Amino acid sequence: MRCVDVIVIGAGPAGCATAVFLAQQGRQVVLLDRAFFPRDKVCGEFISPAADAILDRIGVLSRIEEGGTMRLDGVAISAYGGPERLIPYPSHPDFPGRVSSLSVERLGLDRTLVERAAEAGVDVRQGHQVTDFILEGDRVVGVKGKASSDKGFELRAAVVVDAGGRNAVSLRKFRLKVEQGKGNRIALAAHWDNVHFPDNYCYMHVSRPGYTGMSPTEGGGGNVVLVVDPSVVDSNRIDAAYREIVLSNPRRRKLLDGAAPRENVRAVGSLSFRVNPPPVGGLLLVGDAMGFIDPFTGEGIYLALRSAEMAAGCIHSALDSGNVSRTALMSYETERNREFHLKFVLCRVLQVLIYNKRLCRGTVSLLGKRPDLAADLVGVIGDYVDPKKVVSPGFLGKVLLGILRGALDPPGGRAKKKTPVLVETPAPLNRQQ
Ligand SMILES: Cc1cc2nc3c(=O)[nH]c(=O)nc-3n(C[C@H](O)[C@H](O)[C@H](O)COP(=O)(O)OP(=O)(O)OC[C@H]3O[C@@H](n4cnc5c(N)ncnc54)[C@H](O)[C@@H]3O)c2cc1C
Repeated sequence: MRCVDVIVIGAGPAGCATAVFLAQQGRQVVLLDRAFFPRDKVCGEFISPAADAILDRIGVLSRIEEGGTMRLDGVAISAYGGPERLIPYPSHPDFPGRVSSLSVERLGLDRTLVERAAEAGVDVRQGHQVTDFILEGDRVVGVKGKASSDKGFELRAAVVVDAGGRNAVSLRKFRLKVEQGKGNRIALAAHWDNVHFPDNYCYMHVSRPGYTGMSPTEGGGGNVVLVVDPSVVDSNRIDAAYREIVLSNPRRRKLLDGAAPRENVRAVGSLSFRVNPPPVGGLLLVGDAMGFIDPFTGEGIYLALRSAEMAAGCIHSALDSGNVSRTALMSYETERNREFHLKFVLCRVLQVLIYNKRLCRGTVSLLGKRPDLAADLVGVIGDYVDPKKVVSPGFLGKVLLGILRGALDPPGGRAKKKTPVLVETPAPLNRQQ
């Protein structure tokens, strides 16, 4: 049986990026996906500004931009019916012009990535589902699977990368997935037509019974993701329930006036999970296969691309040294944790914060009065400002003090004296949300 350098399972952003980085280093790579592209994927489709540089290194940024995208200038947030704050991305020396983020439909993005992998010399096999690993001792040395023709296949490689996303085959095979808590939420998503948002921002509305993330897409479209507790959704009338909950918030109703979903709602359950490292050598996990917190901070694609870049570097060195043992490949896990640990801490803090009405309203109100704090937070969420700026006792102290002062201030007192840099939408809403 032929043995290649690397087999990558899954041709989403993580798998394609890993395959391209390795091919660019001269490695022989086979990329397998059970789907045929273009294939769609439930996603907010709003990509951290920091992903631009990686997409450029893979050689696809200009192609993606030419293929129909929008550039968003920041994040608009409202909490439990409070005013909407527009927080622009802060400038940064790494970005020559203004900082912005891509909003691009996954159908096109993922197809472009697969095409780029083939062009880079990767052997791309669509309609190939991996069902199991080939193990020798404590090392993965290949995969088994079934092609769409129903024909079985076996392939061998020095290293296997599992980029199979939230249902990756490794998670089942080695029981690596750990669900996060009882209150796991579901996401319901659909593209809408005839969407005309006033600004090119990603709109995050936190209210009961859940939050939404809405991004405009090219040609008057929009992506509306609703995250809720599954108990509030009647699974027999999922489309109607999604629409009712989305439009129950007056701000969303105003923004989506005249718009309508162009497709049936798609659902993803068990949003949040963590993953233990694989107990064998010859195997690495990248992208969502490594775990997922919640789409609120919308950095999954950046994480997928960046973890792919790190994994490719680690695999390249391991292949050079002829050591692909579990210990040798652990350097990837260590590097990944070092780079992302503080960002993950922030995501978990935000998860607590958004579901606490008083804290959430207090924080969003404070961000309206303190553009410096808001800019740092959005820069960290956008993955281009050092998380240390925000995950620090100093920042936390300023936020808590600010919230406390806000709660003690007479309405319109202290805040009125400041010159607001952030834009606040007028007309407070009376409705209970
Ligand atoms: C509701 C929701 C909203 C989100 N919004 C955003 C957002 O706005 N911005 C953002 O950056 N991120 C967002 N994310 C996260 C983002 O979608 C993921 O982080 C990203 O898709 C991860 O990429 P991936 O390549 O790891 O996995 P995927 O994109 O899931 O790709 C996995 C691929 O593996 C293939 N595969 C799986 N198993 C096998 C197998 N056994 N054999 C062969 N092929 C296999 C699948 O067919 C698939 O093509 C969101 C996620 C959710 C759930």
